[in-house]
Amino acid sequence: MRGYDEQMKRIYLDHASATPVDSGVSRVVAEALRKYTGNPSALHAEGKAARVALEGARTKIATVLAAHFDEIVFTSGATEANNMAISGVVQAARARGIERPHVVVSAIEHPSVLECVRAMEAEGTRVDYLVVDARGLIDTKELRKLITPETVLVSIMYANNEIGAIEPVREIAKEIRHARKVNQSAYPYFHTDAAQAGNYLDVNVLRLGVDMMTLSSGKTYGPRGIGALFIKRGVHMAPIMHGGEHERGRRPGTEPVAIAVGFAEVFAHAEKIKAKESARVAKLRDMLAEKILKKILGTSVNGDLANSLPNILNISFEGVESETLVLYLDAAGIAVSGKSACKSSSEEPSHVILAIGRVREERAGLPAVTSAQAGAGRFSLGRGTKREDIAYVAKELARIIPFLREARAQSDVT
Ligand code: PMP
Repeated sequence: MRGYDEQMKRIYLDHASATPVDSGVSRVVAEALRKYTGNPSALHAEGKAARVALEGARTKIATVLAAHFDEIVFTSGATEANNMAISGVVQAARARGIERPHVVVSAIEHPSVLECVRAMEAEGTRVDYLVVDARGLIDTKELRKLITPETVLVSIMYANNEIGAIEPVREIAKEIRHARKVNQSAYPYFHTDAAQAGNYLDVNVLRLGVDMMTLSSGKTYGPRGIGALFIKRGVHMAPIMHGGEHERGRRPGTEPVAIAVGFAEVFAHAEKIKAKESARVAKLRDMLAEKILKKILGTSVNGDLANSLPNILNISFEGVESETLVLYLDAAGIAVSGKSACKSSSEEPSHVILAIGRVREERAGLPAVTSAQAGAGRFSLGRGTKREDIAYVAKELARIIPFLREARAQSDVT
C-alpha cells in the first residue's frame, strides 16, 4: 500500500518524529541480517560472530559517549529506555529500604516519562513536576527546593521534542552532586532523555555529568526498534522485564544484532558531522522563522530559538487548528506535526505548549490557559532539508493560513 503519491515532490519536515534511514546504513543492516545468523548467547561459531558484532556496536556507542562499554544497555527504543531508567531505579530503591521513593521530572517530558511516573504514583511513588518558563526551561533553584532525602531520581530531558528547548543538563548535574553531598547519599540519580539530542548536541556523559541517558536510533537516521540506555557503573537498577541474563541481567531477550550494528554506525556518523550539520540546519530554521513571522500575521514562536535544538521550529498560528494545518500542508506535499495549545474539537492540547503558556499567562496576571485558538505547527528539519524547501514551505503557509482563517470565520458565521 502506498501511503501517499510517491510521484509528488515531498518536503519532509518531521525529523523529530522519525528520521529517514541513512541509505548507507540500510545496506549495513541488510548485510548484518544476512551475516549474523546466530544467537549472541550461543557458544558456537555463529553465536560468537554475532556476539562480536553486538559488542562492537556497543563499544562504538560507548566511545561516542565517553562511557565504558558495559554501561550501554540496548533497548527497543527511547520509550523503553525511559521506562527502564525510572521504574528500574525506583524498584531498586524500594528493595534497598526506601519505602516511599520520590522522583522529580519536568512538566514537559515525553509521555514515555510522564506516563511512566504517573503509573508509579498510583503504586506509592511520590512525584514532583518541575515547571518551566516561557522558553521551556527549568530553573535549577526550583529543582533544589524539591529535592528531599527520599529523592532517588531526577529525570529531565536534554532537548524537548515539541519546541526544541535545551535544558541546562550540566547545571542540573551540578545541583544533583550538591544534593548528594548534603544528603550523604548515592541518591538522587540524574537521568536525561537525549532522544532528540543525538544529531546536534554534546553527548559526552563525562562532560554532562549524567548517571543515565536515553538514546534512540530512529531519531538519528538509524533503523527503528532499537535504542539504548547509558547506565553509569554503580547505579542501582532493578530489571523491569524478566526472562534471561542478556545485557548483563538488565534487559532480557535475544539481542537484535543487525539493527544494533546499524544504530552504532549512524550514531558514530552523527557525531562526526554534528557541528557542521547543526550550523547548516540552524540557518535554514532561522530563515523559515523569519519568513513565517514576516509574511503571516498572528504567528509566534513557541519557545526560544536562542536556546533550542537547531532543527526544531514550533509556531502558533492564531485562528487555525493544528490538525487541519497538518492535513493542508500534507496535501501541498509538506510533512509536519502539530498540536494545539487548547482543546478544540478532537484535538488534545499539547502539555508542552500549555506548560510554557501557562507561566507566560500567569505572569501577566491572566487566567492560566486562554481560550484563544492557536494551533501549533512543528517544523523539524533534517539532513535532506534545502534552502528551496524553506522558500516553498513559507510560500504555501502564506497561502494556506489565510484560507483556513477565512474558512473558519465563515463556519463561525453560519
Ligand atoms: N523521548 C523523546 C524526547 C522523544 O522525542 C521520543 C520520540 N518522539 C521518545 C522519547 C520515544 O522514542 P521511541 O520512539 O524511540 O520509543
